[in-house]
Amino acid sequence: MTVSSTVAVIGGGPAGLMAAEVLSASGAQVHVYDAMPSVGRKFLLAGRGGLNLTHSEPFDVFVTRFSERRAQLEPLLAAFGPQQAREWAAGLGIETFVGTSGRVFPTDMKAAPLLRAWLHRLRAAGVQFHMRHRWVGDGAFDANALRFATPTGEVTAKADAVVLALGGASWARLGSDGAWAPWLQAQGVAVAPLLPANCGFDGAGWSEHFSSRFAGQPFKSVAIAFTDSQGRHFARKGEFVATATGIEGSLVYAASALLRDEIAANGSATLLLDLLPDRSAEQVLAAVKHPRGARSLSSHLKSRLGIEGIKAGVLHEALSKEAMQDPAQLAATIKAVPLKLVATRPVDEAISTAGGVRFDALDPALMATALPGVFAAGEMLDWEAPTGGYLLTAAMASGAAAARGAIQRLGL
Ligand SMILES: Cc1cc2nc3c(=O)[nH]c(=O)nc-3n(C[C@H](O)[C@H](O)[C@H](O)COP(=O)(O)OP(=O)(O)OC[C@H]3O[C@@H](n4cnc5c(N)ncnc54)[C@H](O)[C@@H]3O)c2cc1C
Repeated sequence: MTVSSTVAVIGGGPAGLMAAEVLSASGAQVHVYDAMPSVGRKFLLAGRGGLNLTHSEPFDVFVTRFSERRAQLEPLLAAFGPQQAREWAAGLGIETFVGTSGRVFPTDMKAAPLLRAWLHRLRAAGVQFHMRHRWVGDGAFDANALRFATPTGEVTAKADAVVLALGGASWARLGSDGAWAPWLQAQGVAVAPLLPANCGFDGAGWSEHFSSRFAGQPFKSVAIAFTDSQGRHFARKGEFVATATGIEGSLVYAASALLRDEIAANGSATLLLDLLPDRSAEQVLAAVKHPRGARSLSSHLKSRLGIEGIKAGVLHEALSKEAMQDPAQLAATIKAVPLKLVATRPVDEAISTAGGVRFDALDPALMATALPGVFAAGEMLDWEAPTGGYLLTAAMASGAAAARGAIQRLGL
């Protein structure tokens, strides 16, 4: 092939933009198509939380965060991993820092300046952007006539190779709606069901009284523990939020893959909430038993253990009036409030998506074996990871890998 090979990158999130960057550096004519009026909308949303770009932990720990997909992602992350992500940002004039949790953020905690600089560099390199071009992938796939729905009607485009970077199925209003899944399946590309990852749950069984008072309020300095029916265990301190119908927030997201899979397998998952993880069961029992004189139980719990508000509320949810008066039951429940969850919140609300194009439908260069010349990257692939910068790093790593695959195939 010649240097004038044309590559269509469909989807302008971090995976697609990274693919465009690597491809344009090799001399390909790169066209980025996106359904939305502008690219990188979810990337910008991530910036609202400070843009956790990557994580500073050692590489051999970093790769364990991809659990069962470690083997598939490790080679991609070895080429573009946490260190490269920071260097890449620095190359765009965006310095990063390591937060107390080891997470890495741009110093200004913003996504917009980074995206602006990135798009500027891509345009300068000759990448052409086609916004409001929604790829329509039903029917037979033809790289010589890629179909796009645009405000002025359907247009077609021709490409020597295609990188699909269409994202998952969460926050559809930002562009990633998962509509591609049945289209690719119909072409013989195996796709694992798209499921919520880093998601909230329903079914904590809150009373009307509890949810009207405490929905939206955080459980701070707590811990949750959960063991699934296969004996896999999760235990961590942190915080999360009560919703009207359940729970969400960082600590819940961290446990969400296990909880989701347990609900799918057995219909429910019961986690144990420790309201005072820094005190032993014995200390809590001693404090509960401590003579309280004329004081009410609630003021006793507040003064001796700091339990009030939502923490007191959840104890009343779990225990009858009589059980509240029994020190042993009360103390045991303070250390382990059972919360039975019965459903994930919908994937559209999730931070990310599990499932997607299966790795066994791709060759090591991320080309779909059923669609030669078509590569896939980013969250639309069948991997998941917790929050902590792993999602963006792996999206970009796979975008770069798919681009390298296309470059090799085109002989650039
Ligand atoms: C609230 C929130 C906060 C987050 N914060 C972080 C964080 O701090 N750190 C982190 O690592 N990750 C974070 N993430 C996750 C991260 O943003 C995603 O994992 C990442 O954006 C995935 O990149 P992607 O390029 O694969 O897909 P996306 O960013 O979803 O991009 C896919 C693109 O494809 C386009 N598209 C889809 N279908 C079509 C079609 N048919 N035709 C044309 N275009 C199409 C979409 O419009 C979109 O622009 C966050 C996510 C959310 C929701």
